[in-house]
Amino acid sequence: METIIAGNWKMNMDPGESRTLVQELLQAVGAVKDRTIIVFPAFTSLPHVAEIVHNSVIKLGAQNMHWERSGAFTGEVSGLFLKQLGCEYVIIGHSERRHVLKEPDDWLNRKLKTALDIGLISIFCVGETQDERESGRTEEVITRQLDLGLKGIESEVHKMIIAYEPVWAIGTGKTATPDMAAQVHGFIRSQLTKPATILYGGSVKPENIDAIMKEEEIQGVLVGGASLKPDTFARIVKFTK
Ligand code: PEP
Repeated sequence: METIIAGNWKMNMDPGESRTLVQELLQAVGAVKDRTIIVFPAFTSLPHVAEIVHNSVIKLGAQNMHWERSGAFTGEVSGLFLKQLGCEYVIIGHSERRHVLKEPDDWLNRKLKTALDIGLISIFCVGETQDERESGRTEEVITRQLDLGLKGIESEVHKMIIAYEPVWAIGTGKTATPDMAAQVHGFIRSQLTKPATILYGGSVKPENIDAIMKEEEIQGVLVGGASLKPDTFARIVKFTK
């Protein structure tokens, strides 16, 4: 199964900063062949980054999309436009969109369906909040997110990537221990009828990447904060087991 190291730049890096970041990253990881490296810049930086990563080892993705292909959806972005810019991947259901922007599960389901239809590979994020973990509801929450998100498309889960991102570990510096993450990955896998690539996300950094990637259950990582510095992200890309 392929190993994926993905960097979610969130609402950071203007077009000029994005060009510099990806140029430096490419210099650092340009020779890495045995893992898939994906960056997710802001929409406004996508064409700039696309120009630099074209035909390189770095793949391009978008942080979100709408489920309709076009129409009266002011402020939204069509997955077709993203494909035209060179995106191969799209993040669906990041916890910041679920919890801050209140995106409901049925929207995520529609987005996942459209991404499948138009040929974008989704990174579908699931994960529990601190309260949910502390009250022993991690598995219940993840089961619900998977059931509702994958409704009608569960048989196509092998064409997507799942990211387990415990909300309490995102941008907080708190990381799930590799063992904790592996346990939830195993649970997610047990809920799916087809093999899927499952990434871990939540305060991944150079100090913990090697231990995380030692776990058989973990096929890669989705990195936020630590993907904004080329040296730091390159070190994560070059993890050793
Ligand atoms: C993320 O944004 O998906 C993420 C995991 O962020 P961070 O690495 O900063 O916790």
